[in-house]
Amino acid sequence: LDAAMVRRAQSGQDHSHSPLSHRNSSGKRYDYLIVGAGFAGSVLAERLASDGGKRVLLCDRRPHIGGNAYDFHDASGILVHKYGPHIFHTNSDAIFSYLSRFTAWRSYEHRVLADVAGTLLPIPINRTTLNGLYGLDLRNDVQAAAFLASRAENLEAIISSKDVVVATVGSDLYRAFFEGYTRKQWGLDPSELDKSVTARIPTRTDTDDRYFQDSIQAMPLHGYTRMFENILDHDNIDILLEAEFSDVRKDYKAAHTIFTGPIDEYYGYRFGALPYRSLQFQHETHDKRRVQPVGVINYPSEEIPYTRITEYKHLTGQVHPKTSVSYEFACAEGDPYYPIPRPENQALFKRYEQLANASPNVTFVGRLGTYKYYNMDQVVGQALATYRRLQAVTSDEKVA
Ligand code: FAD
Ligand code: UDP
Repeated sequence: LDAAMVRRAQSGQDHSHSPLSHRNSSGKRYDYLIVGAGFAGSVLAERLASDGGKRVLLCDRRPHIGGNAYDFHDASGILVHKYGPHIFHTNSDAIFSYLSRFTAWRSYEHRVLADVAGTLLPIPINRTTLNGLYGLDLRNDVQAAAFLASRAENLEAIISSKDVVVATVGSDLYRAFFEGYTRKQWGLDPSELDKSVTARIPTRTDTDDRYFQDSIQAMPLHGYTRMFENILDHDNIDILLEAEFSDVRKDYKAAHTIFTGPIDEYYGYRFGALPYRSLQFQHETHDKRRVQPVGVINYPSEEIPYTRITEYKHLTGQVHPKTSVSYEFACAEGDPYYPIPRPENQALFKRYEQLANASPNVTFVGRLGTYKYYNMDQVVGQALATYRRLQAVTSDEKVA
């Protein structure tokens, strides 16, 4: 690898084709080589460099920092998320206050509508959804709860993503909102997926139509990429973009590696490939101010090939005469985005985890490294906890 590829990240546009300023790091030794410049890798780079005083080399095979949260201004100047909509939400004051060192925020409460046979209804299912779908006039929580109870099915055990929905709202609502969406998103029937997947979506008897109920819900005021630039703006951090770990490891030496890519890739797939679900995004700009009433519309019908459409200006608050949207198409091949929660996959992950436990010079973090369907705040929390653990190990070594 050419040392001239060491770059510092710069602001606000798609960096894919523009050479950035360079840093000559040839011959430098690092305390840590971190693979992946998403939340997991960037938070660890920041902690190790600025709190721990360590020298860090951070590499990513993509041409930008930010991992899947990367955003950029498209050809029309509209801030969009390259890898689909990212809304920050958390109940952790500690995680929010850590990130607040690197960004100001815009309050944003996400709302989603589902297109059920041409009618737009709130998802998560709430009282408005029930009244809208069935032409009812349920007036309070008690009436809505009684309606749901009359539909819910009694199951002996709740194991799958189908069970958890059918046991709460019954088969009809399950088919309308969950069955087709889940089959498209995961390439599996909900009966083949852990209950944890659809259990992410609650059912409500009130009229709260927010997608999340976390105490903190916000978007980085100047976007995620700008926040990552601030996280990584430290003299002890060098960054290599468009740089594969397999190449970087040949040219740069570090005492410890932190790997936030897929754990099965690190170990050469020796027990077989862990399944990940991938996505393709179709981005479009329209010559109008608005195309949909909320940030995201879900399309549960299997007759429609995409799962959801996002209109970014709702999320970012940007004022612009045009508007940009993205369609999401789920697929088996391509960049790994989602670990697939099922018992056999977890069992395979555990075999890789055993290898990891026996590898003292590498630490796995993040959604791909630990094969967990984590939100951004959970990855930040995991990275901060990993830093504390690494620090404890270092101070134990000093004592010894
Ligand atoms: P990543 O962001 O995937 O970063 C890993 C990086 O490692 C990648 O950039 C990759 O290029 C790099 N890499 C991997 N292997 C190698 C290698 N061998 N060499 C070099 N580089 C390598 N979370 C929320 O909280 N709210 C949301 O609204 C939300 N929406 C989402 C929507 C979509 C479509 C997706 C896919 C995810 C969403 N998430 C959301 C989850 C969020 O994206 C993740 O929690 C978070 O980005 C994970 O960060 P990470 O650092 O673990 O992984
Ligand atoms: N889901 C669904 N219909 C919806 C929304 C969600 O069936 O309208 C299911 C689907 O299986 C999805 C899961 O619930 O993968 C979790 O949804 P979430 O919006 O949390 O997914 P993400 O934003 O992580 O893709």
